[in-house]
Amino acid sequence: MTEAVLHGWLVGGLFVMAAATCAVLLWIDAPYGRHLRPGAWGPEVSARLGWVLMELPASVFFFLVFLAGDAAGERVPQVLAGLWLCHYLHRNFVYPLRMPAAGRTMPVLVAAGGFAFNLLNAYLNARAVSHFGRYDPDWLTDPRFLAGAAVFAAGFALNVHSDHILLRLRRPGRTGYAIPRGGGFRLVSCPNYLGEIIEWGGWALAAWSSAGLAFFAYTAANLGPRARSHHRWYRARFRDYPPERKALIPWLA
Ligand code: NDP
Repeated sequence: MTEAVLHGWLVGGLFVMAAATCAVLLWIDAPYGRHLRPGAWGPEVSARLGWVLMELPASVFFFLVFLAGDAAGERVPQVLAGLWLCHYLHRNFVYPLRMPAAGRTMPVLVAAGGFAFNLLNAYLNARAVSHFGRYDPDWLTDPRFLAGAAVFAAGFALNVHSDHILLRLRRPGRTGYAIPRGGGFRLVSCPNYLGEIIEWGGWALAAWSSAGLAFFAYTAANLGPRARSHHRWYRARFRDYPPERKALIPWLA
């Protein structure tokens, strides 16, 4: 079996994983953050360490696989890798340092699962961009790239801004949860997830690859059910929770 064939099968596998993940998460809340029941999922590590470790393949391994590709020296793959790394350098090395660390943990199982997923996903997308993808030099002016990059940037901005609002709720001295307000929270309970899904939709369009599409599908399958759980949790916990606010999709759901 050639690597290209294996790559194609693994991309197909990622679509299957997306469907399976969505089905499972409609029944079970991924056990981290507010949905963690301490001790129920085995040993735990600090949430900050867990985030740094599980995101490492998405930044470092992605970069190494990217460099090993035949087209790593070309402009278009470099720009695409730049978009990817913008997100993951932030997620890997900035976001965890800003999160409220004191006393927050996550199961080793969740961190290990995230690590394994990121390993697979980084391989698939880096290889798609710098080895199997064939991009014309003028792809950077193609409407699909331009629209995809703009959507990616809008999603990134929404994701980072929404996480910023959440992290500010836990300034030193404050513990527990409050109703987030402003920005995307005017419309939905989880604008950070909405931004993340939009981002990877933009990436899939800009990279025009089946690997990108599979990651987009997985992100939506993973974060959609979690947004529904968060939304229900907010409504059950806060009697004054804004009734017009939806879970993930403004005005709809
Ligand atoms: P959450 O929205 O559950 O939490 C984000 C941070 O804000 C956590 O530190 C959380 O604390 C804190 N927080 C959340 N809500 C409140 C509140 N109402 N009051 C006070 N503090 C609050 O996001 P996740 O932890 O699930 O995800 C973090 C980032 O990672 C997001 O940007 C998400 O898009 C991204 N992500 C991407 C995935 C993908 O498939 N591509 C998968 C998972 C996450 P605590 O942890 O204590 O609840």
